Amino acid sequence: MNSYNLKRLALNVFYPNVCPFCGKIIPYDEYFDDECDDLARCRESSRQFFRAVYYNDKSKPLITAAKEHADGAAISAAARLMFEEIRDHTFGVITAVPPSKARLAENGYSFPELLARELAAMCGTRYRKLLVKKFETKEQKDLTAEERRLNVEGAFLAVNERFVRGGDILLVDDVSTTGATMNEATRALFAAGATSVTPAVFAQTPLNV
Ligand SMILES: [Zn+2]
Repeated sequence: MNSYNLKRLALNVFYPNVCPFCGKIIPYDEYFDDECDDLARCRESSRQFFRAVYYNDKSKPLITAAKEHADGAAISAAARLMFEEIRDHTFGVITAVPPSKARLAENGYSFPELLARELAAMCGTRYRKLLVKKFETKEQKDLTAEERRLNVEGAFLAVNERFVRGGDILLVDDVSTTGATMNEATRALFAAGATSVTPAVFAQTPLNV
C-alpha cells in the first residue's frame, strides 16, 4: 500500500468514503460506485480526444460543485475520472485552457487549471501555464457551432515557450461542446512549436443544454 492509499485509509476512519455522484458509502480504496460510473462515463473518449464523462443528470451536480463552488472533493473526483482515461499514456507537460477574466473574477479560481494540476500530480508530470488569452471572448454557451469557432479564433497565445517547443502536451479543459476552444488552443501550441497536443476534457456536453 502506498502512502496515498494509506492516507485514504486513515481518513476513512473519520470520513467514510462516498461516491461523489450519489453520496453512497463505498470501500476506502474505490472512488465511485460502479452504477454511477457506468451512467456518467463518456463512451467516445479516445487517444485523440480524452473525455471522462458526459454532461448528464448523473454528472451535472459534480460538475457544478467543481466548476462553480470550489468543492475540493468534487475537483479531485473529476481529476480522478480524467486520470483513468489517460493513465496508460505519457505526456511531457500538462497545461490548461486559460479562463476568461470574467469567470476568474466570479469564481476566484480556474477549474481547468486545478484539474490540470491534480492530473499532473497523479501522473508524476509537470504542470505548466502555457497559454494566455490575447483578448476576452464571449461565453460560448449560447452560441451556434459556427459562432463558437469565430468567437475563439486567434484568442490564445503560447507563453513559457521553452516548455512548448518539442513538447508532448496534454491540454486540459473542463467542458467541451463543439471542441472549438480546444482546436484554437491546440493551434496556438502547435504554432509555438509543440510536437504533440492531446486534448482532454472532463465533460462532453451536447449543444444547447
Ligand atoms: Zn454513486
